[in-house]
Amino acid sequence: MNNSLRLMYIKGIPVEIHISWFLIFFLFTISLAQSYFPIMIEGLSTQVYWTAGIITSLLVFASVLIHELGHSFVALNDGIPIKKITLFIFGGVAQMEVEPKNPKSEFRVTAAGPLTSFTLALLAGSLYYFILSPGSIFSEAVFFIARINIIMAAFNLIPAFPLDGGRLFRSIIWHFSQNMLKATRIAVAIGSALSFFAMGAGFVIIFFQGNLFGIWLIFLGWLIYQAGQSSYSQLVFKDTFSGIKVSRIMSTNLQTISPDATLEQVADNFLHYKYGAFPVVYGSTTHGIVTIQDLKKIPREKWPHTPVVRVMTPLKECMVINPETDAAEVMMKMASQNIGRALVMRENGDLAGLLSRTDMMRFIQMHMVLGEE
Ligand SMILES: [Zn+2]
Repeated sequence: MNNSLRLMYIKGIPVEIHISWFLIFFLFTISLAQSYFPIMIEGLSTQVYWTAGIITSLLVFASVLIHELGHSFVALNDGIPIKKITLFIFGGVAQMEVEPKNPKSEFRVTAAGPLTSFTLALLAGSLYYFILSPGSIFSEAVFFIARINIIMAAFNLIPAFPLDGGRLFRSIIWHFSQNMLKATRIAVAIGSALSFFAMGAGFVIIFFQGNLFGIWLIFLGWLIYQAGQSSYSQLVFKDTFSGIKVSRIMSTNLQTISPDATLEQVADNFLHYKYGAFPVVYGSTTHGIVTIQDLKKIPREKWPHTPVVRVMTPLKECMVINPETDAAEVMMKMASQNIGRALVMRENGDLAGLLSRTDMMRFIQMHMVLGEE
C-alpha cells in the first residue's frame, strides 16, 4: 500500500500507517468523546471526554497492531519473513514475504491473530471486573478495549478468505485434500459468496432503512472480494510456473544495442523490431537495459547526440536471474518489487535472454490453450 507513513520497527518489522487510518482514528475519537463516554459517565468536562477519546482510540489501534504482531511473531518463528505491517481504515495487515509452506504452519500463523485479540480481551475484561472500580472514565475505557478486542477476533474469524477465518478454513481443507490450489478455490468461493451477501445487505440497509452504515458493508464486501480474487489468481500463476525454468519462458531472439548507440538509433530499433526493451551489450559484456520509456527522459531534439548509456538502467540496478531459476520464484519477486523485466544471464556472465511480464502472460495463455505440455 502506498501513501503510508513509517512509524517504527518492531523486531525488524517496519510498521506503517496508511492515510486512510487517520479517517477511522478521527471517527473513533469523535464517537468516543461525544457519545460513548458522556453516556457512560455523566458530568465531566469536554476536555476530559476528548482526552479519554484520543487515548482510547490509540489503545484500539494498539490492539490492532498487537493482533498483527501475533501473526507476525508466529510467522517469523516458522521461518516466514514479514515485509511490513500496515494499519489502515479496516484494521491491519501483516504482509508475509512468502506463503506458509504447509497447512499446519498456515493454521498456526493465522490462529495467532484472533488468539492474541481474545487474550487482550480477557486481560482487559479481568482488569475491569476484578481490579478497577466501575464508574470511572478509566474503567469504561478498559471495558471498551475488552469489547473491541472481542469484536476484532470475532470479525476476523468470519470464514471469508483472506480474512483469518477464511485462511483457517483453507488450511483445514488443504490439510485433508493435500491440494492448496483446490483448498484456496473453495475458500475464495465461500469468501466471494459472503462478500456478495455483505454488499447486498449494504444496499438493503441504505435503501430500505436509510442507514449509511450500509456503505461500509458494501465497501468491505468489495474489498474482501477483490483480495480473494487476486490471491487466487496469484496462486494460479505460481502453480503454472512452479517447476518450470526461466529458460523455457524467456525471449531468446535478442536484438542488442551497443552502448555508444544514440537515442535516435535506439528509437529506430524500437520502430523496426517492436520489442519493449533491448539489452545494451558490447562484445560479451552486458551493460544494462533500455526500454522505450527511457527515451522520454531526454527531449526529442537531443536524441541524435545522446548516447544510450545516459538513459538505460545500468546492469547493477537491473534484476538479473539465472536461466535455471524456477519461474514461479521470479514471478513472485517481479510482482512484489513491481519490476517489468529481468536480464537472464548465465553463470559466466553471458546474456541468455530477457524475461518480461509479457513473456509470462504469453506462456500462461499458451498453457491454457494447449493444456499441460
Ligand atoms: Zn488477523
